[in-house]
Amino acid sequence: MIIIMDEKASPDQIQSVVERLLDNGFDVHRSTGATQVVLGVVGDTHNVDLRDYEVMDGVHEAIRITDPVKLVSRTFKPENSIVKVGKVEFGGNKIAMVAGPCSVESRQQIKDIAAFVKKTGTHLLRGGAYKPRSSPYSFQGLGEEGLKYMREAADENGLAVVSEVMDRMDIIPALKYVDMIQVGARNMQNFALLKELGKLNKPILLKRGMSATLKELLQAAEYIMAGGNHDVVLCERGIRTFENYTRNTLDISAIPILKKLTHLPVISDPSHGTGIRDKVAPMARASVAAGADGLIIEVHYDPEKAMSDGAQTLYYEQYEQMLSELKIIATAVNRTL
Ligand code: PEP
Ligand code: MN
Repeated sequence: MIIIMDEKASPDQIQSVVERLLDNGFDVHRSTGATQVVLGVVGDTHNVDLRDYEVMDGVHEAIRITDPVKLVSRTFKPENSIVKVGKVEFGGNKIAMVAGPCSVESRQQIKDIAAFVKKTGTHLLRGGAYKPRSSPYSFQGLGEEGLKYMREAADENGLAVVSEVMDRMDIIPALKYVDMIQVGARNMQNFALLKELGKLNKPILLKRGMSATLKELLQAAEYIMAGGNHDVVLCERGIRTFENYTRNTLDISAIPILKKLTHLPVISDPSHGTGIRDKVAPMARASVAAGADGLIIEVHYDPEKAMSDGAQTLYYEQYEQMLSELKIIATAVNRTL
């Protein structure tokens, strides 16, 4: 259920509605729009008589939403949400860029890449320390040590850090080092993890599961928001289809669909979305043209020697070239880069 307050509702009137909802055992999430306040009511509202609220002073309308997504929906919040991570804003006019290696491999590796990322004007450094690998014999990441190296490298260059946690146990160590927590595709429906992340005051980058529908992605975001953490950025990273030329099929249509259904920022990951280095830039351009609020890109000084995902990782020159192309696309769709 959502309760839309009158444009002229006073703070006291809003507070009375909130208190009544809390007294009745509901969780209340407030969204303050340009003209009015909307209250998102979480809990079982089946037996609520909407008129009980509609007669209250300052209430414009009470609407029962049967759709399982409430807080992520544009009905709850019509304006775009902006999620801030360091100097980066996701969901504003500027396209947010995130770049770095697939995995943190050593202190020197992440230092070099962070300096490069900084030089290109990108302010958010990516790099995995806990790696979800298909084979247990593949490099599993440096764990907390990797996070330490990444934090050091980021601080030397004034960058913010995003890194994945795979397990609830990883959250506490990661909090010390990262500015944004990534939920990987394989964990999009790890509900226990999502619930924990919902309790944090830390932005979350939520990647679409490789066989998840858009509705399931939105429901996963709803888990995080229902816990009170509203700083969620969605990421289209490609899905499994019958096509096996590419590693995944980057679902570009997901971008405008999500932008219509939700106020949350939506970014694209053409690195995992294609798995092929020379397909990354064209799909990055297509993503920006389709309305993506940002891109996350794997880059390394020596992709051939990268310990994970080398085949989809850009060389430095390719990243720079891609940025100059993206500027043109961004201008064409009234955005900046
Ligand atoms: C990654 O970002 O390196 C990663 C493993 O992503 P995904 O969860 O999308 O596969
Ligand atoms: Mn990767």
